[in-house]
Amino acid sequence: MQLYRSKRLKTKHLFTSRKGGVSKPPYDSFNLAYHVGDRRGDVVINHKLLAAEAGYDFKKLIFMNQIHSNKVVVIDEESFVIPSCDALVTNLIDTPLMVMSADCAPLLLHDAVCGVIAAVHVGRAGAFGNIAGRVIRTMQERYGSDPTDIHAAIGARICTQCYEVSDKELAEAEALGYGFACRENHLDIDAILMYQLLACGCKEENMDFLPHCSRCENKSFFSYRAEKVTGRNAAVIVL
Ligand SMILES: [Zn+2]
Repeated sequence: MQLYRSKRLKTKHLFTSRKGGVSKPPYDSFNLAYHVGDRRGDVVINHKLLAAEAGYDFKKLIFMNQIHSNKVVVIDEESFVIPSCDALVTNLIDTPLMVMSADCAPLLLHDAVCGVIAAVHVGRAGAFGNIAGRVIRTMQERYGSDPTDIHAAIGARICTQCYEVSDKELAEAEALGYGFACRENHLDIDAILMYQLLACGCKEENMDFLPHCSRCENKSFFSYRAEKVTGRNAAVIVL
């Protein structure tokens, strides 16, 4: 197992790589997603391995049916329903939140003062829809978080050089005021995310963009652009 952590997050969390699981190619080997065509039994084993390694209750894990939106769901009671959304927020203890990705950015947030966490899926749609800003606002309104107390870590995702987009998508970015993130025919999602977090009042020194590209480092991470049929990396956070 090859796991990554951020010094910025002062609660239990981790970012997975594709190493250390039991799934067979093209899902080799640490695929955490049930919906990508992998054998369900293998995915269950991978989840149990991860829970044991991270030290959380496998049965309490909450993950999402991610829909490339900016929809935020607050988890305020134990639930066995899989919400359709792209961000989870909770203040519940021992309730691990998971986001899965293969090129999209996995964003974990923690406010140690109010005791609130979030797991966020930031694809292009999420970035364009300011899902990060919506999550910060939810943490403020629902739990009284001060953005200057919120720490953020962003795991392996596709880098700007690997992320070629169409003219239509570049025009959309421009129209939304994200022209600063357009680099010829590539898009810099990190720049958009950083801008949105700063605009909410988060501090740059509390942010940690882990230096890994899922596509450049395809041997270590699942990459949809590199492989199409592939597994999903995961990021988990728990209070
Ligand atoms: Zn890259």
